[in-house]
Amino acid sequence: MLQTVTAKLKISVSDPQKKILLDTMRAYSDACNLVSEFVFRRRDLKRYSIHKEVYYPVREKYRLKSQMAESCIRTVAGAYKTILENQKEWIRPVFSRPQMDLVWNRDYSLDRRNDLFSVNTLEGRIKVPFRKQGYERYFTEGCRFGTAKLVTKHGMFFLHVPVTYEIEELKKEEVTNAVGIDRGIRFLAVTYDSQGKTVFYDGSPVKQKRAHYKALRTELQKVGTPSSRRRIRSVGQRENRWMRDVNHRVSKALTENHPEGTLFVLEDLRGIRAVTERVRVQDRYVSVSWPYYDLEQKLTYKALRNRQLVEKVSPRYTSQTCPKCGHTEKQNRNKRLRLFCCRQCGYRSNDDRIGAMNLHRLGIELTVPDADAAE
Ligand SMILES: [Zn+2]
Repeated sequence: MLQTVTAKLKISVSDPQKKILLDTMRAYSDACNLVSEFVFRRRDLKRYSIHKEVYYPVREKYRLKSQMAESCIRTVAGAYKTILENQKEWIRPVFSRPQMDLVWNRDYSLDRRNDLFSVNTLEGRIKVPFRKQGYERYFTEGCRFGTAKLVTKHGMFFLHVPVTYEIEELKKEEVTNAVGIDRGIRFLAVTYDSQGKTVFYDGSPVKQKRAHYKALRTELQKVGTPSSRRRIRSVGQRENRWMRDVNHRVSKALTENHPEGTLFVLEDLRGIRAVTERVRVQDRYVSVSWPYYDLEQKLTYKALRNRQLVEKVSPRYTSQTCPKCGHTEKQNRNKRLRLFCCRQCGYRSNDDRIGAMNLHRLGIELTVPDADAAE
């Protein structure tokens, strides 16, 4: 199975190189803005028509080499495609920060023997050392580099290099630990593992922040001016970035806190009604629009990297079933007291753990299909 990650490599540059890189990145961003304006006027994303009109102006005005001008057209077209997909309307992307896209083996290459990147600039190629620390595994045989982004932050320079490599997926028979993950509102996630350990990921900071964003949007909607509409959009983007970051941190903690050979078991939330049925009305906005799918994706690719697996199971009865004896009854659960008490065997527990315990049990069943026969 192929996996792609982005290695964020800090490159070391001398002062003269710094100037060359910045000049080149500025020329590149300026050229992108010119192309962006052109596309916005024409509303035409066909590479051929953009190329015909702006390729030479871009090369002359900004002194870009032919391949840089090509990259620049590709960058802008890509930005428009993303915007059209997400926002469903023509919004002109602005390239305000100096940056540059570099095609592998054309705009940048690697001198493996001396650990140097060779980067194309307006003044020809320059060679720069970089810090490999933490990314050593991406420089081994069989790793392929893609189009990198050169960016600058706090006066330092970074190459964001997408690295694609083959990864061997963990097989179900190799699973040595199952972790049930129950997602919700009070707790972003509750986990239960094969050692019987429960971990709660507090959801209240997320709930508060989402309520804050919602209030902000409601205020702006009341204003109803073009500028308030723009602000609504930028608030939405900020909220999305923040949510993706929370998901990044939660999935990172989940994969790092469990060993290789772990199977994570989640509820399959594709039928989102299953979630809405379980939550109070005032929590619905928080719960339903939380990007669970994004968390699943992030968890899946991070797990893959750690030789772990993710499986989804039907969410039916996971909160009503007794994790000890399997007895399923609605009355097992007292929502008001947040208490689970099995009507058959008398097992009692805080009800927030029950979902995770049942998901853990379903995970064990997935890996040992004959568990019942063996008993
Ligand atoms: Zn029971």
